[in-house]
Amino acid sequence: MVDETTRVDDPAQFPPQEDTVERLWTPQRMTYVLRNDEGKVTKPKTKECPFCAGPNKSDEDGLIAWRGTHVFAIMNLYPYNVGHLMICPYRHVSLITDLDDAELFEFEKATTLAMTVMKEVSHPDGWNIGINQGEVAGAGIAAHLHQHVVPRWNGDANFMPIVAQTRTMPILLSDQRAAYAQAFDRLAADFGLPSEH
Ligand SMILES: [Zn+2]
Repeated sequence: MVDETTRVDDPAQFPPQEDTVERLWTPQRMTYVLRNDEGKVTKPKTKECPFCAGPNKSDEDGLIAWRGTHVFAIMNLYPYNVGHLMICPYRHVSLITDLDDAELFEFEKATTLAMTVMKEVSHPDGWNIGINQGEVAGAGIAAHLHQHVVPRWNGDANFMPIVAQTRTMPILLSDQRAAYAQAFDRLAADFGLPSEH
């Protein structure tokens, strides 16, 4: 029963049950999105280089997908696309010219291993692979070299396959990491690279 103190919204003002807006649900972003005192979204202020800190954590906490002798593979917290990995040397160096021969070999070999891991886990149609060296070139963390390995799917520029992908794959970074880690362990020996187990 409705009396005069009860507010009843006009159903005509409700949004339709099914609208046409596409939504991308990315809860993993909430794990690192912070707000400053003015309520603005900020990146967490890390005291130390995240690529030096990552390997000192557990694989799960550091989002490490694979550990080699000279380099490791880590999930990108700010993915350009689903499944975005990075290959980093353990040493805190900024340029590929700073790597010694052993590091350089494993850096590139691990990149081909990462592509193969992605082929097995999520069947991409292509990849963007590259290094932004120096802040002027767009490096977010210029002080510590990292090679981006970004899987691409046909048509993902219009976002729809990314949405579809999030429906069919585990959407959390931790789940993505675990799937990659298993494949890295299984495939690393074929590339002459160490596996953890
Ligand atoms: Zn570093």
